[in-house]
Amino acid sequence: MKKPFITKQQAEDLIKQYPTPFHLYDEKGIRENARKVKKAFAWNKGFKEYFAVKATPTPAILQILKEEGCGADCSSYTELLLSEAVGITGSEIMFSSNVTPEEDFILANKLGAIINLDDFTHIDFLEKLVGIPETISCRFNPGGLFQINNDIMDTPGESKYGFTREQMTKGFLKLMEKGAKHFGIHAFLASNTVANEYYPELAKILFQTAVELKEETGADIQFINLSGGVGVPYTPDQEPNDIMAIGEGVRKAFEEILVPAGMGNVAIFTEMGRFMLAPYGCLVSKAIHEKHTYKEYIGLDACAANLMRPAMYGSYHHITVLGKETAECRYKYDVTGGLCENNDKFAIDRMLPKIDIGDILVIHDTGAHGFSMGYNYNGKLRSAEVLLKEDGTSQLIRRAETPQDYFATFDFTNLFPKS
Ligand SMILES: *Cc1c(COP(=O)(O)O)cnc(C)c1O
Repeated sequence: MKKPFITKQQAEDLIKQYPTPFHLYDEKGIRENARKVKKAFAWNKGFKEYFAVKATPTPAILQILKEEGCGADCSSYTELLLSEAVGITGSEIMFSSNVTPEEDFILANKLGAIINLDDFTHIDFLEKLVGIPETISCRFNPGGLFQINNDIMDTPGESKYGFTREQMTKGFLKLMEKGAKHFGIHAFLASNTVANEYYPELAKILFQTAVELKEETGADIQFINLSGGVGVPYTPDQEPNDIMAIGEGVRKAFEEILVPAGMGNVAIFTEMGRFMLAPYGCLVSKAIHEKHTYKEYIGLDACAANLMRPAMYGSYHHITVLGKETAECRYKYDVTGGLCENNDKFAIDRMLPKIDIGDILVIHDTGAHGFSMGYNYNGKLRSAEVLLKEDGTSQLIRRAETPQDYFATFDFTNLFPKS
């Protein structure tokens, strides 16, 4: 059974200060999990988690993760600015972008971020802009299918990211010629994997590739970046990943492949977003309408603009009706938002307890790729973000948008001249 990290009483107290809907984050959960990740990879001297900023681009969250020793994985100009603003700087920033605009590379270089190139042609592009830095990373795409125990996890051959295997060798040689001295390798082969084997299997591929690249080019490979993709159990029946087992699996591959090749000093980096944050955030919303037509509907004050994943991917997000945690789920509902878009449904045919107007609904696991994917369709405004602190108090870490924010990018004065 999935349990929210707040009680009905706590939610009611919060709602007195912060009107629904809002995203709520659990500081205690975030810190405990970040410490576990660190412990799981403590066997590796250079280990560092570069939190994927796109998952939760909120300064207070980045600050907590920074305090827990994390860096930041950025892929855009504003994500770089955000990291810099919370004091994550220099090589604590991994710049893993693609289709990168000139100004983004220029800023990444100025901040001293580690640049992780997505493509062979980016070598010339980067050189013309800012020159080739001494430390650089290349993103690898092995193509084909990515399988674990005959299960197809994803199809790298269909993904837009990364260098081919041949381009990795050519790229390393070209970069060395242009002055690069230290190298990293990165790959992201499957998303939201709920399987302890993902990182170890990916590690085997990357470690083997690193050994080959070192033999072929003589490059000094200093780090291997396993990127993101470690998932969380969105549905109640899924078994959560065991990060200790994952760390141990990567260690085994490291001992088997890198150590015998004399590469035992290579640092392991990760760029997790979802695993670091998803379970430690939820969307708190109120039932404001019910509708009885061909189906039974519950309408919330939140909509897909606050949480896009169900509309975009058909993702499951668990829902708890606060105060009815133990009630029998005897009613079948579509739980919807108010966008003029029929895919604005948080749940379809979901069995839930009887929902009454005014009930508080917690939509689970929205801490990553939740608020951040929000948008303004139908003029809907982005919600606030609230931090539930370790001591039980709360802090507004992002205020809700107002109509002024929505209208801030144009000038009304021409339309409505002062009379
Ligand atoms: C999105 C992304 C991540 C984080 O992915 P999660 O699935 O949230 O772990 C890491 N690295 C890169 C380059 C990404 O694009």
